[in-house]
Amino acid sequence: MSEIRVRFAPSPTGQLHVGSLRTALYNYLFAKKYDGTFILRIEDTDQNRLVPGAVESLIRMLDTIGIHHDEGVFIENGVLAQKGGYGPYAQSERLPTYREYAQKLIASEKAYYCFCSVSRLAALREEQNKNKLAPKYDKYCLGLSHEEIEERLAENEPYVIRLNVDENHGDIVFDDLVRGEVTIHARDIDDQVLMKSDGFPTYHLAVVVDDYLMHISHVIRGEEWISSTPKHILLHEALEFPLPKFAHIPLLLNPDKSKLSKRQGDVAVEDYLSKGYLKEALVNFVALLGWNPGAGSTQEIFTLDELVEKFDLSSVHKAGAVFDLKKLDWMNTEYIKKLALDDLYERGLPFLSEKEFFKEWVGRQNMLSEEEKMAFVKRVLKIEQDRLTKLSDIGENNPFFFASDIAYEKTLLNWKQNTVIQTKEALESAQETLSSLTDADWEYKEVVEKILMDKAGDKKGDFLWPLRVALTGAQHSPSPFDVAWVLGKEESLERLKSALQKLS
Ligand code: GLU
Repeated sequence: MSEIRVRFAPSPTGQLHVGSLRTALYNYLFAKKYDGTFILRIEDTDQNRLVPGAVESLIRMLDTIGIHHDEGVFIENGVLAQKGGYGPYAQSERLPTYREYAQKLIASEKAYYCFCSVSRLAALREEQNKNKLAPKYDKYCLGLSHEEIEERLAENEPYVIRLNVDENHGDIVFDDLVRGEVTIHARDIDDQVLMKSDGFPTYHLAVVVDDYLMHISHVIRGEEWISSTPKHILLHEALEFPLPKFAHIPLLLNPDKSKLSKRQGDVAVEDYLSKGYLKEALVNFVALLGWNPGAGSTQEIFTLDELVEKFDLSSVHKAGAVFDLKKLDWMNTEYIKKLALDDLYERGLPFLSEKEFFKEWVGRQNMLSEEEKMAFVKRVLKIEQDRLTKLSDIGENNPFFFASDIAYEKTLLNWKQNTVIQTKEALESAQETLSSLTDADWEYKEVVEKILMDKAGDKKGDFLWPLRVALTGAQHSPSPFDVAWVLGKEESLERLKSALQKLS
């Protein structure tokens, strides 16, 4: 294969969408797999749709996620910068180039000036609508004489430049690396506007010129662009550019199979990160939206390096890919399970710090050093780690870890039909056992567990249930050993004392 050069070419109209993340990721994986170059080009020619700060936010998000580009627009020392031998990489900085190519097309009669007014175009569309015809420009201005065109240009009449689609061109056939052979008849293609009256190119002209000048070998993009591809092929032919290879990746769908939309859930990558999905899980999940390593493999968890190794365009699916939040939740749980405790702490603390219950807990812990507070949170995390779906769930399912006062019905302390007397005895015995534990015993969860289990003997429920309820106030919770270990000796004994007070 000759040199692989691919590009991710977002329009800076808002936050990075999960669909765009997948496009960027597939381009990245393909480039890395074949030692190619991954380019970030900013397609900002539609001035009405630009959102201030969107370019910076797109670049930051790709960096955060870990999909790094080799060439194009970057942020350096806080400001936008460009790197690479084929810049500028922001289309709004390339206007003279597009004008030059538009003029070439005019000169070779592959494109023409069109002076039609908005009202004429609207009337034409209405007429076509009435006759149930697809909307299409009627080439009226192609009939203008050279002199008339010169005159109208000299008078500064507003104009656009249109592609002159030859109706006799015959079928446009291309071999899509995902979809296979795609055929479209030229007579179904409109005389696409290439240059707008504001002097900016349309997407179609800019994308073809740039893909050529930036030596793009493979155009990998969302399926929504497949209907534009025949126009791009005609433009390549008109400009005598060699064709890149095309790969259109499947649409992302809601579970009801409609096109993925904001109305049915979050679509911005940022939203998922701020909900506590790990970037690694998100990348893994997004990679599998429309791709898997192929026959015989059931592997679902992949590192970025494994994805680079296994990914190929030939195993990208044709059918739309359903964005299944349940699967993302499952994957995130798996990724959280695998984090080292210190890493989980680093990533989880910002989420926990937002919670009122945690802020209140911190407020009450003025006796604890920062290290002691950190050690407590890490113990909570050790217990919760395997059951967390998202980082934002930390502490949510076990409020008794951070609460100062746990409220519960005293009858909850009784194991099955046990009497209050039996419950009291069990709690007193637990009190005695926990009091006898040394600080060294308390270091290890397993030691606390063994001592309490030995004490419980064959009366597990009778002993452990009241202890667990006294510590948690909850019907369901992690085991009493785990909770006692997290809370520490002093707090555990405090809670046992107040349970006994409830019963007296
Ligand atoms: N600027 C287009 C977008 O916003 C890119 C289409 C393409 O990759 O050709 O998605």
